[in-house]
Amino acid sequence: DGVSMSTLSRPSRMMLLVNPQSGKGQALTLYNNHVQPMLSEAGVTHTLVITERQNHARELVKEADLSQWDALVIMSGDGLLFEVINGLLERPDWEEAVRTPLGILPGGSGNALAASVHHYSGASLVSTEELLVSCGFLLCQGLVAHMDLISIHLSSGPRLFSFLSLAWGFVADVDIESEKYRHAGAARFTVGTLVRLASLRIYKGKLAYLPATEDDHSEDEGSGNNTTLRCNSQASSLAPSRDSPCQNTFHNSCHSNNSHKVRRTDSTPRRSASKAPGGPPDTLLPPLDHPLPSDWVVVQEEDFVLMLAMYQSHLAEDLLAAPDATSDDGVIHMFYIRAGISRTALLKLFLAMEKGEHLATNSQHLVHAKVRALRLEPHSPKGMITVDGEVVEYGPVQAEVHRGLARLITG
Ligand code: ADP
Ligand code: MG
Repeated sequence: DGVSMSTLSRPSRMMLLVNPQSGKGQALTLYNNHVQPMLSEAGVTHTLVITERQNHARELVKEADLSQWDALVIMSGDGLLFEVINGLLERPDWEEAVRTPLGILPGGSGNALAASVHHYSGASLVSTEELLVSCGFLLCQGLVAHMDLISIHLSSGPRLFSFLSLAWGFVADVDIESEKYRHAGAARFTVGTLVRLASLRIYKGKLAYLPATEDDHSEDEGSGNNTTLRCNSQASSLAPSRDSPCQNTFHNSCHSNNSHKVRRTDSTPRRSASKAPGGPPDTLLPPLDHPLPSDWVVVQEEDFVLMLAMYQSHLAEDLLAAPDATSDDGVIHMFYIRAGISRTALLKLFLAMEKGEHLATNSQHLVHAKVRALRLEPHSPKGMITVDGEVVEYGPVQAEVHRGLARLITG
């Protein structure tokens, strides 16, 4: 079978970025108590970088000599990884930079990617500290998989790259309103959800999407793991090998067999809406103020409670929003909830989501579609849109998936 996964070289040189303010403000303590001993036991050499302010990591990664590093590891919430990914894609050498393996250790209050990586490993739901140990273990194994990135266009500013979610309405409001409960850790979303339920509102807008075809993700069917093959026979070795020469196996000798399977709908790309210098062109999206091609589906409803586009399995540590998502399925798992749902029914959906059972409830109001691109035009004058849990400009937004663009250490 094809080979689409590699291992980090041994010993690895990791840059470990820790945000001391993330989550309950305990990331450094968690690093000292759990991560540092684990990495030294496994013989993983790393350099600790403590972030000092917002955008510090983004600037650092944008300027860094990446040949010095085998991996960039983030210990924070999802917000810090969002900075790192966008920093990589802002570089003139983005094409190579974005292939730097990225690792995640949960240190924040929103640790959705860490929970997803843990989930992909086949393990079950655990507490935050157990999640940290699990992710630390997976990091030490150093298996590198592909990760989809989604390019996001807003009405002004350059493109953004997103690895986790695009949310509007209920979920976006909870995400941002719950920041004040950050000291509660992962429980912030539960508290935020209950508060928002009490003042449930309807959001008006127009939603359209380009459906994914079977071919877009068919090779992943039957096994969520068949894209995570090993690139060399040393892959399973956990033994520290400090003496071996440093070799960047991933960058030099491993190539994805996925790339040739990524399908374009057209042989001639549509007029690209790409604005930013960094990152691949968007071939599915017309400019945001242009009409959509005829193969897009326009959602009939214009009254929503939420729209949530997910590209990883977890929306939060205890919210399995897209149960069948894998890191590189090339699919945006799009959900929306129509207006008219009762508070009780909505609460039931969120409770069912803890185990990923919300789709099985057969709610009349919940709609799920696998898509490759989408466009949302909010009509409500006020509201919130988040990308990877970070608030972005409110207004029209469109997104397109770039399959397997980044690399993720999944263990
Ligand atoms: P959390 O899950 O707790 O929100 P995040 O990783 O999302 O954790 O981090 C939140 C924000 O903190 C990010 O936008 C990041 O830029 C910012 N940040 C990073 N380092 C610092 C720092 N030293 N002080 C304050 N904010 C920081
Ligand atoms: Mg955050």
